[in-house]
Amino acid sequence: MLENKIRLLYMLQTFDLKLMDLEEEKGDLPGIVRNLNRQLQELLSRIDEIQRTIDGHIATREQSTLDAESLNDRAESLKKQLYEVRNNKEYDAITKEINQAEAGITRKLQEADEHDSKQKELQTQLDEHKQKLETLKTELTERQSELQSVSKVHEKDELQLNHEREKIARQIPGDTLLMYDRIRVAKDGKAVVPIKRGACGGCYKTVPPQLNLLLRKNDEIHICENCGRILIAEEIAAEVNKVA
Ligand SMILES: [Zn+2]
Repeated sequence: MLENKIRLLYMLQTFDLKLMDLEEEKGDLPGIVRNLNRQLQELLSRIDEIQRTIDGHIATREQSTLDAESLNDRAESLKKQLYEVRNNKEYDAITKEINQAEAGITRKLQEADEHDSKQKELQTQLDEHKQKLETLKTELTERQSELQSVSKVHEKDELQLNHEREKIARQIPGDTLLMYDRIRVAKDGKAVVPIKRGACGGCYKTVPPQLNLLLRKNDEIHICENCGRILIAEEIAAEVNKVA
């Protein structure tokens, strides 16, 4: 079997498509792992933020309770003073102070209550976030090990495919190889397409009937006038596919 240039190009493309598939498969997982990592970091900082807010509410609640207690002590001692007053004016002044202290106690206890319920509300949120964190961690671990094993497997395949590709590429003239690469980049990786039922296998535009025959016989490169891809005879493509 005569190894013609187009046949070699088509073989080259078979390897390039396989390499592209490997890249695509692998290309998905690093993105997923990156994304999960980002979500994890966001969740961790959210948890940290909620925890700090909770701590703030706890501290404020404790302070309010302490304030209420000291106001209570103050009210108690004022009440004792009432027994020792000498006139109405003094009595009124102390009573006023007691009322103020008692109003303060009510206010401080109310504040403590508010901080308490806010803290409980946030605690529920925190628990939910922590649960989410566990789920995320598990998924990340799974995906990371998946990526690791895929990379490992692909490493071997990639090396093998690149080796085979090089062997073929070495037999193709440099300018032809350049043309192939240019078309490949422009046409989503498919530079060489077989003629199928009288039409270009890339863009499905009909090609001259004698072209398939011509492509079977000589080594000339024919480009599809419509899409610019290199055409290969249907039969030669089938032979290459059988081997690959
Ligand atoms: Zn075409």
